[in-house]
Amino acid sequence: MKNILLSFFWFLGVGRTEFLPPVMPTPTIALTPTVHQVTFAEINQKYGPCATVNVLMYHHIQEEKLAKKLGRTGLNVSPEWFEKHLQYLKDKQYNVLRMDELADFINGKRALPKKAVVITLDDAYEDNYLSAYPILKKYNFPATLFTPTGLVDVMDYLTWSEINDMKNSGLIYFGNHTWSHHSALDKKEVLEKEIGLADTQLAEKGLNGAKVFAYPYGKPSNDAEAILAKSGYSMAFTTKQGNILCVKQRYTLPRIRVGNAPLSKYGL
Ligand SMILES: [Zn+2]
Repeated sequence: MKNILLSFFWFLGVGRTEFLPPVMPTPTIALTPTVHQVTFAEINQKYGPCATVNVLMYHHIQEEKLAKKLGRTGLNVSPEWFEKHLQYLKDKQYNVLRMDELADFINGKRALPKKAVVITLDDAYEDNYLSAYPILKKYNFPATLFTPTGLVDVMDYLTWSEINDMKNSGLIYFGNHTWSHHSALDKKEVLEKEIGLADTQLAEKGLNGAKVFAYPYGKPSNDAEAILAKSGYSMAFTTKQGNILCVKQRYTLPRIRVGNAPLSKYGL
């Protein structure tokens, strides 16, 4: 009886709307774009000389549990993973270069070995001293810390005394990351102050050897590039993903952002 009733309502059109065939969208012609993979040779011709260098980018190195509690897992690599990365570089016989060696290449003074790696840590957090530095020492691998000098001695940033200790090891180098971790997209006058003040502070403390810069938040600007060139900087790093470093792109160099995963995942 129930079925008969349902059929009857169906016949009347009650409750039928949801069974109407859907309106088909007008078919579009699927265009398959021909993606041209730019080769090293092409980039080299346009921006070269270029070299393949894996510039690894880290921020915090601390226990994942603590990073989670502090809401900073996106910028964290655990000490365990950091050590695994360094062990991998050792096992696979990568050449971990000092920043001044890379600067020499960019300045046309030397060629680079194959399987080249540069280790960078941004923002100068105190965990770099407490967790990363002992592991770097263990493997005897150099690294560069991009330091917003105005934040030194503040809360969980490095202290000048820790910076000095690392500098004296001869293993850790320091780079300009503006004075207050300032975006390069701001006005020229502001950038002049931000870059200039950090430059002066690093120089005063004998930390400005390679004269290298990293853009806070990753984005470069023409004004910042002009200031860096005028101030004698040899290189500036973005957060653009890549490992082909070219002389004519010295102020917009790419890096490889790594996380809690094997380096093989990042093309190494
Ligand atoms: Zn930063």
